[in-house]
Amino acid sequence: MPLSIDKRRDRPTTQWVYTFGNGQAEGHAGMKSLLGGKGANLAEMSRLGLPVPPGFTITEEVCTYYEDHGRSYPEALKAQVANGLDFLGRLTGRTFGDTENPLLVSVRSGSRASMPGMMDSVLNIGLNDVTVAGLAKWAGDERFAYDTYVRFIAKYSNVVLNVERHHFEEILDEYKHRKGYTLDTNMTAQDWKAILPRYKQVVEEAEKFFPQEPQEQLWGAIRSVFGSWMNDRAIKYRELNAIPASWGTAVNVQAMVFGNMGETSGTGVAFTRSPATGEKVLYSEFQINAQGEDLVAGTHTPQHNTEDARLASGSDKPSMEGVMPDAYKELLRNCGILEEHYRDMQDIEFTVQKGKLWMLQTRNGERSAKAAVRIAVELATEGLITKNEAITRVEPAALDQLLHLTIDPQAERKILATGLPASPGAAAGEIVFNSDDAEAAKEAGHRVILVRAETSPEDLHGMHAAEGILTMRGGITSHAAVVARGMGKPCVSGAGSIRVDYAAQTLTVAGQILNKGDIITIDGSNGQVLLGQVRMLEPALSDEFDTLMGWADTVRSIKVRANADTPLDANTARNFGAEGIGLCRTEHMFFEGDRIVAVREMMLSGDETGRRAALAKLLPMQRKDFVELFTIMSGLPVTIRLLDPPLHEFLPHSDDEFEEVAKGMNGSVGKLKQRARELHEVNPMLGFRGCRLAVVYPEIAEMQARAIFEAAVEAGRKTGQRVVPEIMVPLVITKAELDLVKERIVAMAEAVAEETGVKVEYQVGTMIELPRAALRAGEIAESAEFFSFGTNDLTQTTLGISRDDAASFLGRYMQKGLLPTDPFITIDQDGVGELVKLAVERGKKTRGNIKLGICGEHGGDPASIHFCQAVGLDYVSCSPYRVTIARLAAAQAALQQRAEKLADVPAF
Ligand code: ADP
Ligand code: MG
Ligand code: MG
Repeated sequence: MPLSIDKRRDRPTTQWVYTFGNGQAEGHAGMKSLLGGKGANLAEMSRLGLPVPPGFTITEEVCTYYEDHGRSYPEALKAQVANGLDFLGRLTGRTFGDTENPLLVSVRSGSRASMPGMMDSVLNIGLNDVTVAGLAKWAGDERFAYDTYVRFIAKYSNVVLNVERHHFEEILDEYKHRKGYTLDTNMTAQDWKAILPRYKQVVEEAEKFFPQEPQEQLWGAIRSVFGSWMNDRAIKYRELNAIPASWGTAVNVQAMVFGNMGETSGTGVAFTRSPATGEKVLYSEFQINAQGEDLVAGTHTPQHNTEDARLASGSDKPSMEGVMPDAYKELLRNCGILEEHYRDMQDIEFTVQKGKLWMLQTRNGERSAKAAVRIAVELATEGLITKNEAITRVEPAALDQLLHLTIDPQAERKILATGLPASPGAAAGEIVFNSDDAEAAKEAGHRVILVRAETSPEDLHGMHAAEGILTMRGGITSHAAVVARGMGKPCVSGAGSIRVDYAAQTLTVAGQILNKGDIITIDGSNGQVLLGQVRMLEPALSDEFDTLMGWADTVRSIKVRANADTPLDANTARNFGAEGIGLCRTEHMFFEGDRIVAVREMMLSGDETGRRAALAKLLPMQRKDFVELFTIMSGLPVTIRLLDPPLHEFLPHSDDEFEEVAKGMNGSVGKLKQRARELHEVNPMLGFRGCRLAVVYPEIAEMQARAIFEAAVEAGRKTGQRVVPEIMVPLVITKAELDLVKERIVAMAEAVAEETGVKVEYQVGTMIELPRAALRAGEIAESAEFFSFGTNDLTQTTLGISRDDAASFLGRYMQKGLLPTDPFITIDQDGVGELVKLAVERGKKTRGNIKLGICGEHGGDPASIHFCQAVGLDYVSCSPYRVTIARLAAAQAALQQRAEKLADVPAF
């Protein structure tokens, strides 16, 4: 606790109150954790010599004390507050509670964390039946004084005494109506006086007591701010934002300045740069003859600050620049001073009293992703911050906003339902209820939204054809969500209030029935489902964006690759700056077109000869796939995972399908069905799959290896650039099984080299996706040249929870504090992360130069990327649409690691 020496008693007394004003302050911007953000910045502005009405801040510690001591105050507080009021009196030449020359104050809450929805500020404290006359005399304006007093009674009664606001509003509306007034400004002093007793009566009828005594008013407001720290709304907000209750809020008591003293007074808010675009222009609103809250409450139509803005909007209301040019010029000057001082865009509140500007608040302004990028780059270019700082100024996850269509914030939204924000971006189109319809409609030139109860692997083509996906069930790790994110398509999942009726082809929601072909819009960034086609904004990647990403790329050490199975994915990934493919799943290649028939023939033939015959049909197709990928990725590494899923995923379902396969094989349907039953997998996650397939049917791995090597030769010839395939064996738990498969791969490499005369450089490695593999990593590394952490399965097998179940369980677990984070989104250090760390250590011990990467969804999660940097992975691999995010996050992780290393150097 900060201490000051109480001279009289010669023992330390806690300083509970910090004054500011007149170019000085006891606090400063670095004291946010004691004075709250508002108080610390008011002190700082005062020190900078900006015109700040004098005031004092009661510390957050008083709030904590208050809570811990049965809602009572430390003994010394009363005297310190009285001293604070004396200080204000000296600086303003007025006295709190004085009848002739009353000082009025505001009481403003403000903690170190921004907490919207905390207690409102109460202005004009100190007014009563007697001081109001003093105020009128001081201002030479009776109307002003009574207007202010009446508003004060309403505000105080509402905020401090919990009297509902509408009672007062009704009285005022009814009075104005009776008088034929349209505006508050029509009200005269006599009118306000006439209303006064009726306002008091409302308070009485609510069985509340409006204190006439200014000291009582002040302490009532202070108590109300401290009390608001523990109200339900604040508690809920803190829970959601991980803000500790122990922080407390500070209270600022500040001398009033009046924006409602006529046509040369007013109040306004300003951003020093546009929070929407980042453009370096004053972005602000202003209201003549009003107090601060009128503006925020939106009860008045704001006016413009600049003449340019006024003319551009065609407004006939005067601008601040036009009416009070001096105050306007000073405001501009102060904006410059504050930006330079805080080295960031500021969000400012100010009031003009009879032509004189007063600064009432400053803080770093909230901004859109687009603005964040532009502001960071321009601040660096202007020399206010370094390039490295610019990199840290942009939230990687926010870049998502820049890569997708977004709904125009001005557009009207008719919300039908709200589900989970499963994959960002907005999309609009006609409703279709199945994937074949989606594909057909797309081919006919329509835009569609695929609406399903849930999706499965069979919906891939429909998801591909659709603009966006809406599901009734499933969390943010459901099939629909994961696949949509991979495709970069907007998706809203788990919209529980919609009802999908496939038979009737209808969607029932919010009492409306929508049919196939009706248009809806989904907003995958917030989970909203909207009626009709809502206006959208194009993603616009700016020059500043390229600049910032360029800077990020020069500082990061982790490489960023993409998970890409198709040429489309690979192209997208390269455009987003991917440095290779970290995971190419080959099973997709087995589903397409005629291939599935050959795959089924392979699976259902009873012997190796039959399997090899079928595989021979697949070979040229696989080779062609790889040639395409290698060509797109020429010069970069490509990790190809051998066939992974349990074979039964490829089994025929319908009789037609069985017949098709039987014909191709000259076999009988009955026998095929028998074989299919044998292949049925009871444990699709951990059963007969992964490298176990290759152990039992090595010819599958051989065919894939041949396709890879032949493709590498062909693509190399085509592009003149070397491709280094990294062949990844999935689901390994022992070195022995890896060796078995590796042997076949090596033999195939030699065979292809012999046949083609070209030796392809390649690596064989494994996916670490089972806890045992992580534990045996030291041994496995004897054979594996690289590890890729498959943290999707590793997470499931470590936690013992499937991804889909996780959506419902983990949310509740986290709410109850049983889990600190969602481990499916962020690698937690004491679970999956610990296994990764252990495998890295053991792997490196065996093979010092082992290549290490991650290919689970965690590879695109900024917090997990920090973890990957810390444990020393070489690369992360994520969906193409997250590559940009990963590049920026990797740069931030590198910078943080550097900073930590510097901090580790012992001081002399
Ligand atoms: P919030 O945190 O909700 O923004 P503030 O404490 O900033 O609440 O108060 C809201 C508005 O009230 C300020 O922007 C300002 O316009 C007005 N206000 C607060 N204190 C004073 C004051 N001492 N003099 C004049 N206006 C004030
Ligand atoms: Mg404010
Ligand atoms: Mg797996």
